[in-house]
Amino acid sequence: MTVDVEVRTFLCRKDNIGVLLRDPRTGACATIDVPEAAPVLRALEETGWRLTDILVTHRHGDHVEGIPEVKAKTGATVTAPRKAGSAVPEVDVAVGEGDTVKVGSLAAEVWETPGHCNDHVTYWFAEAGIVCAGDTLFTLGCGRVLEGPPATLWRSLERFSSLPDTVKVYSGHDYVLANGRFALAADPDNAALRARVAEAERARGEGRFLIPSTMGEERATNPFLRSGEPVLAHSVSLSSDSNPEQVFIALRSWKDRF
Ligand SMILES: [Zn+2]
Repeated sequence: MTVDVEVRTFLCRKDNIGVLLRDPRTGACATIDVPEAAPVLRALEETGWRLTDILVTHRHGDHVEGIPEVKAKTGATVTAPRKAGSAVPEVDVAVGEGDTVKVGSLAAEVWETPGHCNDHVTYWFAEAGIVCAGDTLFTLGCGRVLEGPPATLWRSLERFSSLPDTVKVYSGHDYVLANGRFALAADPDNAALRARVAEAERARGEGRFLIPSTMGEERATNPFLRSGEPVLAHSVSLSSDSNPEQVFIALRSWKDRF
């Protein structure tokens, strides 16, 4: 049984996704990162929700730039990865692996999910069935490895594989069309993937984006999560019995050049 959460998603900057999560029982409300202040403040105004928390996934500018203005205007508490250090000077609560964060009565477990960058954390709201993956896992893709080695990102992604199919994945960017093109190149005979890419194109035409995704959809269509499948090993010229980590590394490097 999952608990009720109200969610609002919206575009920020060019392709960042703003996410507001609200606990209807207490009225507490969190923004996941603040890519840009204005769209977050506008979403708060439109919903009438009162921001209590800013949950930061990682220190990159396109995730933290709007924090000073939004914190000043709302007085929200800033929770950020301890490893981000002075890159998030507005931090009130520094968190790391295994910590619990509360947004009203909604609890999130903090996972350290390095690979995209060393300080990256994921917020796992188990009772709500929501995972806020930042730039670790995307719809049909995964983050770039900016602070490797790539095996680190693979180990971070493996943690998501323990989550049930129904879990909703909120990621930090809408890269679905570019990710879909690569996914089709790597996994061309996957019917579920072809249907998903068609759905993504339809959504884009209607001004929507495919966020949230679900773990079930990602497991069936995301080539990086499918690194253990022989068909993905073959697509990077490795044998069927290759270690999924090796397949992942080859796929990630192919995507970087794609
Ligand atoms: Zn990033």
